[in-house]
Amino acid sequence: MNVIDSIVTQAASIAAVRRDIHAHPELCFEEVRTADVVAQKLTEWGIPIHRGLGKTGVVGIVKGRDGGASGQAIGLRADMDALPMQEFNTFAHASQHPGKMHACGHDGHTAMLLAAAQHFATHRNFDGTVYLIFQPAEEGGGGARVMIEDGLFAQFPMQAVFGMHNWPGMPAGTMAVSSGPVMASSNEFKITIRGKGGHAALPHTGIDPVPIACQMVQGFQTIISRNKKPVDAGVISVTMIHAGEATNVVPDHCELQGTVRTFRHEVLDLIEARMQQVAEHTCAAHEATCEFEFVRNYPATVNSPAEAEFARKVMVGIVGEERVVAQEPTMGAEDFAYMLQAKPGAYCFIANGDGAHREMGHGGGPCTLHNPSYDFNDDLIPLGATYWVRLAEEWLAAARS
Ligand SMILES: [Zn+2]
Ligand SMILES: [Zn+2]
Repeated sequence: MNVIDSIVTQAASIAAVRRDIHAHPELCFEEVRTADVVAQKLTEWGIPIHRGLGKTGVVGIVKGRDGGASGQAIGLRADMDALPMQEFNTFAHASQHPGKMHACGHDGHTAMLLAAAQHFATHRNFDGTVYLIFQPAEEGGGGARVMIEDGLFAQFPMQAVFGMHNWPGMPAGTMAVSSGPVMASSNEFKITIRGKGGHAALPHTGIDPVPIACQMVQGFQTIISRNKKPVDAGVISVTMIHAGEATNVVPDHCELQGTVRTFRHEVLDLIEARMQQVAEHTCAAHEATCEFEFVRNYPATVNSPAEAEFARKVMVGIVGEERVVAQEPTMGAEDFAYMLQAKPGAYCFIANGDGAHREMGHGGGPCTLHNPSYDFNDDLIPLGATYWVRLAEEWLAAARS
């Protein structure tokens, strides 16, 4: 593996920063301490910073040998927020904040970009500008969207933007990138069926919303199997059904909630429209009324072909052809999607390994993201940072020529 020596030399000190951030997780738009740590490190290394985009966002501005005169600029993005969940780990750097945990590895993403920043600060082996984007609120808050609304790309014009996420279970030392959709759009629905309550022994006197809800859930599955094209990916998951409080009472209403995931707009439009039809008509067939709410959250994360291929070549230069794999699209969602709607770029995966880093006293096994026993693998820091550095250097060199 062709990682940068000076980054390897500094990796232990960056890992210490990572563990400090892990021990002090902060949720969406509350990343005040984390942003302070980032700002303090960048400032210590002589990198000018801008704070406040997306409330807690930090942008580091690294000008190259030409002082940025070429006008070419690239953005590298790391997310900083944690999740509202209780950590099971008991190691020294486990969360000190009950009910909050870095279970998605954003502490590691921040650390990898810091390691790259430290290298940029001392080497500046490029012309143009590298923008280091430390983003709040990826986990549901749409921090990327808010940073853009607050002027990220207007204040810091850049031609392309890149993101990276760790991926547990992939063998350490591998990376993955693909062009096209890699993460799905994330959307939520809430349906309220209004019937008529009554005595459970006298169902004919009421309108029972429960069997209506059951039919509705079945009906939704036929949208996936019968309405959308089989080659288009789409998921409808009803994850909450709430009705009733007693065994002998027919409830007067029932609430269904859940999520819809797709890669394509057209499929999302179809699913939303068909769900509303199925919901309203199922209710009408049983003389109940229907309230249908559908909220579109993160759009699909779609890599642009040229930038995905560029990223792949950079990876091959670091880890070799055989360790760069195609990024299998997942129906998870990611708010980097908003940045890719605004700019060309690519979002890639870096393998978090098989979990060997977790064996010393806290489990073992790959341990998925959002699992209470998860921990970021510090061994990734040199590789991830090397990718950021080589990507920026090579991309800016190619942009100039
Ligand atoms: Zn996550
Ligand atoms: Zn994440």
